[in-house]
Amino acid sequence: MMGGGTILHEAIRMGASVIGIDIDPIPVLQAKASLTQSSLKHKKDIFSWFFKALKDKLAPLYKTFCPICNLESEIQFTLYGPRKRCSCREVIFVDSLLLRQANHHDVNICSTCHEVYTGKTHSCRKQANTPLILKGTRCCEKCGSGFADILDEPFSKRYIPLVIVGSCTEHGTFFKSADNDDLAVITQALSQTKHILGWSLQNSAGQ
Ligand SMILES: [Zn+2]
Ligand SMILES: [Zn+2]
Ligand SMILES: [Zn+2]
Repeated sequence: MMGGGTILHEAIRMGASVIGIDIDPIPVLQAKASLTQSSLKHKKDIFSWFFKALKDKLAPLYKTFCPICNLESEIQFTLYGPRKRCSCREVIFVDSLLLRQANHHDVNICSTCHEVYTGKTHSCRKQANTPLILKGTRCCEKCGSGFADILDEPFSKRYIPLVIVGSCTEHGTFFKSADNDDLAVITQALSQTKHILGWSLQNSAGQ
């Protein structure tokens, strides 16, 4: 965990021979750039290589489709809600049901069906298993007990992806409910995370 190399710099100033290690490639690149004699071109080449390698690996995990034209688009961010439980049910907490405020075109999420819709009116076509509850709500209106975090499940399962915010070259920023394609990509990302974590744990155990 040498980070960007400050400790290495200080140790070198004091005359030590240093070896720095980090599991994050970005500080490794930073430390190499600041500790070794290399031309700007060399640094730019390394950065381009690194950026491309990262993009090839991660860009497919930020892929979604525009809800208007179905064009492949990049995900800008995903809104997750934490699951919580009371005595009678499970719910998902959200900061607000209003996702974006715009004149007569407010973007909202429905607390009953989780559908993202624009404008004031909306009719539910289905009912989601878990209702959305506004952050700050202390007690369940049905059973009166308080809502508690779910601590008996792994961290990655305590949050539910609700809204995908993407950018279409044709239609600009869009908000949509996380659909099956989006959920499949998130599942794929999670399995890659487990793979990477497993790999680094294995390697550090072997050192
Ligand atoms: Zn579009
Ligand atoms: Zn309840
Ligand atoms: Zn609805």
